[in-house]
Amino acid sequence: MKKIAILGSTGSIGTQTLDVVRANGDIQVLGISAGRNIAKLEEQVREFSPKLVAVWDEKAAGELKIKIQDTDTKIVSGMEGLLELAAMPETEILVTAIVGMLGIRPTVEAIRAGKDIALANKETLVTAGHLIMPMAKEYGVHILPVDSEHSAIFQALNGEEHKEIHKLLITASGGPFRGKKRAELANVTLEDTLKHPNWVMGQKITVDSATLVNKGLEVMEARWLFDVDLEHIQVVVQPQSVIHSMVEFKDGGIIAQLGTPDMRLPIQYALYYPHRRYLDGERLDFAKLRQITFEEPDMNTFLGLPMAIYASREGGTMPTVFNAANELAVRKFLHKEIGFLDIYDIIGQSMDRHHKSENPDLDEILAVENDTYQWIESRW
Ligand code: NDP
Repeated sequence: MKKIAILGSTGSIGTQTLDVVRANGDIQVLGISAGRNIAKLEEQVREFSPKLVAVWDEKAAGELKIKIQDTDTKIVSGMEGLLELAAMPETEILVTAIVGMLGIRPTVEAIRAGKDIALANKETLVTAGHLIMPMAKEYGVHILPVDSEHSAIFQALNGEEHKEIHKLLITASGGPFRGKKRAELANVTLEDTLKHPNWVMGQKITVDSATLVNKGLEVMEARWLFDVDLEHIQVVVQPQSVIHSMVEFKDGGIIAQLGTPDMRLPIQYALYYPHRRYLDGERLDFAKLRQITFEEPDMNTFLGLPMAIYASREGGTMPTVFNAANELAVRKFLHKEIGFLDIYDIIGQSMDRHHKSENPDLDEILAVENDTYQWIESRW
């Protein structure tokens, strides 16, 4: 039995991880966690009997305690709770399916405790990749990508030598507003933004896909995961979301990973790496598909991508500002406090006023995150 814990078990990636667990029958879920969705957590406790549940919200943790007092599951709360879950002695893999920079500290804790990381929480590598990757090496743990693009690259690199990589080609659907120009984005609604053409995902990443911030975060994530510089990472729009990403090697050969858009595949690949398991569901039918098309990303309209590349090139604390500004801007957009284009203004202005420092440690990253939030709150 493989033993895992899941940070963010009630979300899109978390519940699909549990689908994979359910379908395979040889993974034991020892720990689960969420922000405050205790109804879902209770269901999960009753189905998977974990030893530990971490609930961020203290009041919700208290309510869950009463609901599941007939079980042996222990409940913890707050950041201390997430850290306890991350370092549970018996687990082998921590699935980081939490959303946002909140995932950094538990990920660090898990690496220090020798756990492999099935990493969905890209914000962790974006802001602290320079700390996480060397730490993973030091503690001898695997960082196994769950993001479909990074999983595709990881699969394409199987058995290949790093020095023979020429370029990573990260594919993008282009999001729900592909083809629109800036003026047309001024009045798009939250509802329009949440209609992703191919993937059903959590709300934050769905908004990030529409702004192309998500693609920018993926470029930053890929840089750390695969140790490839920005000049050798290219984004290619492929609206059907069939090619999940590709690697071009020195000899011009390209290896791509294809499939239907189904996150269970990369999740399962990460959990069983280097083995593959049967996965039910729809398969690619090329006769039905007929064509796969390609476009260049529109960097003049969808500023999320060029701003991310700028932040990544600047390095130091700039990616943290980019990410933190986006997190708060998206939260405000989800609460209908700002418009779609304001997201770009908030990120751009936050980066403009920031004096970056090189090689930040964890405390500095979290301080810069906090400072960015405060600055934005005082203005928007
Ligand atoms: P969701 O919003 O669907 O789920 C987020 C999870 O995090 C929920 O379980 C939520 O709990 C939990 N959470 C939120 N706040 C806290 C908190 N303060 N403390 C503890 N847990 C918390 O997100 P997704 O599953 O879409 O995304 C998760 C991560 O995976 C993101 O980093 C995203 O970029 C990445 N990712 C997602 C993909 C997808 O297809 N969804 C694809 C590739 C990457 P609660 O339910 O209580 O709010």
